[in-house]
Amino acid sequence: MVEKDPVSLEQIHLIINNFWATSPLNSLHLDTDEKAWSEPQIAVARADDPLFDQFKGMIGDFLWTPEEAFAIAFPEQTVAAAELRVISYLLPQTEATRADQRQEQEMPSERWARSRFHGEEFNCALRLHLAETLTEMGYPAVAPERLPDFAYQESKRFGIASNWSERHVAFVAGNGTFGLSDGLITRFGKAVRFGSVVVKCDLPRSERPYGNDHQAWCLWYAKGTCGACAHRCPAGAIATATGHNKPACFTYIREATTPYSTKTYGTGSTPCGLCQVKIPCEHKSPLAT
Ligand code: SF4
Ligand code: SF4
Repeated sequence: MVEKDPVSLEQIHLIINNFWATSPLNSLHLDTDEKAWSEPQIAVARADDPLFDQFKGMIGDFLWTPEEAFAIAFPEQTVAAAELRVISYLLPQTEATRADQRQEQEMPSERWARSRFHGEEFNCALRLHLAETLTEMGYPAVAPERLPDFAYQESKRFGIASNWSERHVAFVAGNGTFGLSDGLITRFGKAVRFGSVVVKCDLPRSERPYGNDHQAWCLWYAKGTCGACAHRCPAGAIATATGHNKPACFTYIREATTPYSTKTYGTGSTPCGLCQVKIPCEHKSPLAT
């Protein structure tokens, strides 16, 4: 039997970037016909990275490891974590969306609300497209966030949490570290959204320049300066002493920004993200080397 060549990072880039460039779903659905997202960026984690088990221990037993998510999609296959990789991609907000959002103090801008709604529809399609394309190429793959059992539960330590965390995956893959607001600060800033796919293949893992330091790129945690995201939050849901107050954030989004966006822009979903712009980590990491 002839062994097939291993899939390369360049091929993964091509699959993702072609879809980003050509899919009609990558749109804010405005008259300007502009895309929902700037160009995607990619990093790769090994599924046997010990951080995945550590996060499960911290967040709760309901959190899937990559191996568990893969087993849900391919129950007939016996695959060790060492044979799996996790592709984590990020979709940066466009300059126009960030500029609009910077003008806002209490409610999300129209472009931001549209990226949260239409842009996330594209992101869901991209997750599935990447998993299906890789599977067709002979590399079984699953987008855990798209599994029917994907759900939110209550973590004893962290409150409401999902059984697959795109941000934690992105951290393990080397895409960025957590900030004071709980958002992930990437080389392309915090105004981004994430997606990921678990795949059986032999891709090399990406470099994680911050090691295991999960707050290395936040000015507040690294240097005791900044705190700009706390000042941006109209709900008082971020404080330098205590970090992100999830229930206060959740309540503001459900009771204020979601009804406002639905009524004003006709979008669904739960937009806010005022803490993701007009800050030093909006479109870059202030500390990444
Ligand atoms: S705005 Fe400042 S304090 Fe907040 S996450 Fe970014 S670097 Fe950290
Ligand atoms: S998403 Fe909105 S409510 Fe939540 S912390 Fe950020 S600014 Fe505050």
